Amino acid sequence: MKINPEQTSMPAVISIALVLIAMLHAGLQANAAPVTGERIAAADKEPGQWLSHGRDYGEQRFSPLKTINVDTVKDLGLTWKYETGNHRGMEATPLVIDGVMYLTTAWSRVAALDARTGKELWRYDPKVDGAKGRDACCDVVNRGLAAWGDKLYLGALDGRLIALNMKDGSEAWSVQTTDTSKPYTITGAPRVVKGKVVIGNGGAEFGVRGYFSAYDAETGEMAWRFYTVPDAPGESVDSAAMILARKTWAPDSLWETGLGGTVWDSFAYDPQLNLLYVGVGNASQYNREVRSPGGGDNLFVSSILAVNPDNGELVWHYQTTPADAWDYTATQHMILADISILGQKRKVLMQAPKNGFFYVLDRTNGELISAEKYVFANWASHVDPETGRPVETGLGDWADQSRMVSPAVFGGHNWHPMSFSPQTELVYIPTLHQVYPFQADKNYEYDIRTTNTGEDYAAVAKFAPSVRVNFCSPTRLTAWNPVTQKQAWQVGFNRGVSAGLLSTAGSLVFQGTTGGDLVAYRDANGEELWRQSVNVGIMAPPISYELDGEQYIAVVAGIGGALGGHTDVLDNINTGHVFAFKLGGKEPAPVVASVEKQVQVDASQMDEALVERGLELYAQHCIRCHGVGVRSSGLYPDLRLSSAAIHQSWEAILLEGALAPNGMASFSDVLSKEDVNAIHSYVISTALESTSFGNRMLQRAADMVCIPADWLAD
Ligand code: CA
Repeated sequence: MKINPEQTSMPAVISIALVLIAMLHAGLQANAAPVTGERIAAADKEPGQWLSHGRDYGEQRFSPLKTINVDTVKDLGLTWKYETGNHRGMEATPLVIDGVMYLTTAWSRVAALDARTGKELWRYDPKVDGAKGRDACCDVVNRGLAAWGDKLYLGALDGRLIALNMKDGSEAWSVQTTDTSKPYTITGAPRVVKGKVVIGNGGAEFGVRGYFSAYDAETGEMAWRFYTVPDAPGESVDSAAMILARKTWAPDSLWETGLGGTVWDSFAYDPQLNLLYVGVGNASQYNREVRSPGGGDNLFVSSILAVNPDNGELVWHYQTTPADAWDYTATQHMILADISILGQKRKVLMQAPKNGFFYVLDRTNGELISAEKYVFANWASHVDPETGRPVETGLGDWADQSRMVSPAVFGGHNWHPMSFSPQTELVYIPTLHQVYPFQADKNYEYDIRTTNTGEDYAAVAKFAPSVRVNFCSPTRLTAWNPVTQKQAWQVGFNRGVSAGLLSTAGSLVFQGTTGGDLVAYRDANGEELWRQSVNVGIMAPPISYELDGEQYIAVVAGIGGALGGHTDVLDNINTGHVFAFKLGGKEPAPVVASVEKQVQVDASQMDEALVERGLELYAQHCIRCHGVGVRSSGLYPDLRLSSAAIHQSWEAILLEGALAPNGMASFSDVLSKEDVNAIHSYVISTALESTSFGNRMLQRAADMVCIPADWLAD
């Protein structure tokens, strides 16, 4: 095509421009080779890509790129930003495949971006019903996609597994992986192994039976399903794994709760051993005396499973917390590495589950190599090296009396991914240092419409606001030596939300902050080398990729999740973003002003006599999102700052679902008009204790009285 510029009319210029744009996009796709198991397994051969959730099947989250390194990182700057259009929690790890970034946002939405510029190529919205937000224990988050061939795989909050065509985001197939009459949700990223898409689900806090399944990547047909806990005796024929598991449950276990054991996040895969590793969560009903009267280990809750991905059969299992009573899930990130221990190269699996012990297992057979406390823990003294079982102290037994237990229900480490650097042989862990008051609900009865943990939430709610149940520096970046099982270094933060990690061959560790900074540390000693503010809190793990010889660091931003709703430290408006950085980048960071808001409640709407009842109902139904003491963070509306219009619509919102599309479902199945008024009175009473909020939130966080680390030691 030859063009004479003098004869070119304006429309022609525009059409040529359109052709060029189309060619550019076609070019992005023309380069795209199908994603295969060989490519994911050999991720180091394509260091510029990020093909799978943890970059490789071993989920090390280590980038071999090193143009950005300890010497050059000072020149790192923002090069593009993309606004995702949501204000809820953002937990995704983006994929980068042949120049295109694919990410998920809150409400299971997907976006494809030009990884050089952040320009949006397409968007996909599975249109999850807003009312489904009530079934999400921990916000309407999503942690990312899997890629295989020319497709992407999304686990949607409502339990659908959806295959999208990479080129335009159109649906290739969609299957419902859960019983929609039960409070199942999906927030985790699928993985694809040998042409099978593996996906689990969540919901143990409400009461569901946990499992994970494999679906044919091309057709969506289910290949196999693995239940992690037995169903009621006689309900179905037990697999070999279930015959083993059933022996560890009492005959009169609380079968109606489904027993939990949900697989809501972590998987890893070893192609040589052909073993798929699966992290299993806590039981439904935390109180083990009620859940399985008379005892039992309650397999496979809080366990790491190794299964054959071809048929879903169990090869070995290791239970980190037998008879768990504290929400000590083993769904935390698992890292596979080959490291030298006592002069011998070992194929290990490493995990820092919620229970506070860092585990190094032989991943060929599940044998315990070592386990030591990576945070303060009072519920167990140590892990017996002979039996592989934690030795309980009794200080965590809350069936008959209330107990202050550490780690808290959020764990010593939650979903926030770790990172392993083969260069330092250190594991970088986003650790949590908290205490939690457990108190049993003596009148507990199973009710599918609400949470079924067996706790007395009203007692917790009364207790927590007066004593800030945090250690000093409740979140920390902990560098851990898995060989010596000792801390190498640690950096502490005064805020309650963790953030995921990336390490690189540039001897750097990257982590975001709740305050809206991205920070680079020297991997060997934790020295801070670089920091840039983006003004949106970050909890997702950064990634790195390379295009045209330039290395990028990218991260999604937006606070939320289980802790986001319980943290009153946000001073920004939490606008979801993707931020990408490169050397010489100088796009100014978005400036978001802090918002000072005034309380607008009408004291005459409060009935003093209903406040106590309102607190109890609030604790049972509202506290999970709107926070202890009605202190929510900014991602859920702070009810103390509700507008006059909201106060007037109180009944319509709570009983008629007026705000269901926003994620606030109707609670008419569990609350009466009188109940709703009682909750309103309680909320107004808390609002009247304060007059305005905003920057003072930050001050409160700084002033927070914290508990010395040895507070529970005796
Ligand atoms: Ca849980």
